[in-house]
Amino acid sequence: MGYYIKMPKIIKELTGRYVFCNVPNVHEKTIYLTFDDGPTENITQWILEKLNHYDIKATFFCIGKNVKELPNIYQKILDNNHATGNHTNNHLNGFKTPFKLYHENIKEAEQVIKSSLFRPPYGRIKPTYSYRIRKEYSIILWSLLSMDYKQNLNTQKSLDLLTKNLEPGSIIVFHDSLKAENNMKIMLPQFIEYALKNDFKFEILKHEIFNPN
Ligand SMILES: [Zn+2]
Repeated sequence: MGYYIKMPKIIKELTGRYVFCNVPNVHEKTIYLTFDDGPTENITQWILEKLNHYDIKATFFCIGKNVKELPNIYQKILDNNHATGNHTNNHLNGFKTPFKLYHENIKEAEQVIKSSLFRPPYGRIKPTYSYRIRKEYSIILWSLLSMDYKQNLNTQKSLDLLTKNLEPGSIIVFHDSLKAENNMKIMLPQFIEYALKNDFKFEILKHEIFNPN
């Protein structure tokens, strides 16, 4: 499912009971910017500077192993009042990893990422896994994928699709990674400027918004 810019409706319906592709019941023009796979040396700092420049907040789904290697950069994310979420310790594929190992890996990441938000790497998670994991975490996919990690990406076309499909409650993914660096640096400022110009507000993801009362 990582190949669509816009999450197909059928996937939303199939996964909808356990997994969130957007924030439900958002009536104002509020959107949720997320960054996967960090922290990454220099790249996270670049993102933080941009977010600071536009005075907006985002949610970082971090890999436990990276947090352990770059604890100071991870701390910077928190110090800037952004939110963080668990993206496993070693970026495991939920279709290929036995549940026990998968769950242990999430717990390993939790030692350094104190968050009740979880995003499965590659957006891949078996319904039986999500049924169990959602007892402890809000499982969050995305509604719009920047595809910034794709080599030879037509960034303008990708940006057009992102902005065209933006709506209240959208969860947008960019990547805090070396692979995505070039495309992300081109696309992110343009995306933010479009959203602000069109009166969208950026907010961080929180466990409570998926689990009211
Ligand atoms: Zn990832």
